[in-house]
Amino acid sequence: MNYFPTTKKEILKNLEDFSKNEILNYSSNRNYDLGIPHKNVSKLSPYIRRRFISEEEVMSIILKDNEINKIEKFIEEIFWRTYWRGWLETHPWIYNEYLKNNETKDLLKKTGIKCFDHWVDELLETGYLHNHARMWFASIWIFTLGYSWQSGAKFFENNLLDFCPASNTLGWRWVAGIQTIGKPYIARAENIRDFTKNRFYPKDQLNNTPNYSFENFSNGKASKFLEPKTIPFEDLTKVGLILNNNDLSLNKVLDKKGIKYNCCLWSTNNQNPIINNFQKLLYEDVCNNLNGVTLISDFETIFHWIQNKGIKNLILPYETVGNKIFSNRDFLNKLELLEVSYYFYLREWDQNAFPHCTRGFFNFKKMINELINHKNIFINAL
Ligand SMILES: Cc1cc2nc3c(=O)[nH]c(=O)nc-3n(C[C@H](O)[C@H](O)[C@H](O)COP(=O)(O)OP(=O)(O)OC[C@H]3O[C@@H](n4cnc5c(N)ncnc54)[C@H](O)[C@@H]3O)c2cc1C
Repeated sequence: MNYFPTTKKEILKNLEDFSKNEILNYSSNRNYDLGIPHKNVSKLSPYIRRRFISEEEVMSIILKDNEINKIEKFIEEIFWRTYWRGWLETHPWIYNEYLKNNETKDLLKKTGIKCFDHWVDELLETGYLHNHARMWFASIWIFTLGYSWQSGAKFFENNLLDFCPASNTLGWRWVAGIQTIGKPYIARAENIRDFTKNRFYPKDQLNNTPNYSFENFSNGKASKFLEPKTIPFEDLTKVGLILNNNDLSLNKVLDKKGIKYNCCLWSTNNQNPIINNFQKLLYEDVCNNLNGVTLISDFETIFHWIQNKGIKNLILPYETVGNKIFSNRDFLNKLELLEVSYYFYLREWDQNAFPHCTRGFFNFKKMINELINHKNIFINAL
């Protein structure tokens, strides 16, 4: 069995199976970590994170088979990523502060906490952990082992196939009790026993009464989300599109709008061989399914490509906090020198949601129905 397949065909097939066989039980089963192959959850995060499959595509598939009110919990989870991304977008200083912290922690030896050691191995071997395991892991890391949340977030960053700056940083902050200030997530042995169905029971091994003060913490006031400039699609000629890890399926949006374009794919290397191999195979699949796409991995070659193809209008996926690739002054100045106009495309999915991500998830949740009905954004997404 291919645990994390890398072709769109296989991923769609897995999602269709999940939608037909598992999703109705998702709400009651999702919190159980029963080990590989984690059939009770979708394992879509490495793909949605890169929009190898978009949220709109996922929605259109699951709603073919299911009534919306029977799969609300799953839909809500899909929106957690959107919410975290929007929250970080309106609190960018939180990510900058995280970046300033250079602490790392290599786990060279076993801790003796069987579940924790198991999750380390699972993460290193597969690049994935179940959500509940991530919560327990982070809590043990911070409150039992006494390491900083930032070093834990970096450990995940270096090893997760689905690493997402917003979900990861804010997930770790949430466990540490500084996202929802003063409410740390404390992993308990009985909870681990129950939700792993007795695979693990770290009785008396966890620190359940950490001594932390949250008095001086504040996340600051959200800044207003500023939408990028509107793209005048009807006036655009000589269009170029750069796909990258921020959105590997943006070509579909342009196809729907009937825009003709030249396309290249920004191929990045990752130091972790598992992530690197996974990404390369995804890129390969994009290339196999899209005629004429060129793989590029350095800025100079991008400029040659732009000139060779005579591109005058360049479209790039919008770059959220933590995901900056091309939104740097050097690159943009060079485009201006070449008299190329550029547009960072923010999908409607994000555009409608981000302005509502300034407060807690509870408030955002009230908007979900409105967001999914908004111009039926996921209908005919495939
Ligand atoms: C400390 C910590 C760190 C995390 N780091 C990351 C990360 O770097 N990248 C990442 O994608 N997720 C992260 N998460 C969130 C979550 O654990 C994963 O998105 C989820 O486990 C992915 O598995 P799945 O696709 O099988 O999820 P499912 O349960 O099948 O959920 C479906 C989809 O909903 C979204 N989703 C579900 N739960 C969450 C969540 N809590 N936050 C955001 N989106 C969610 C994902 O896109 C997921 O693919 C983190 C959570 C914690 C507690």
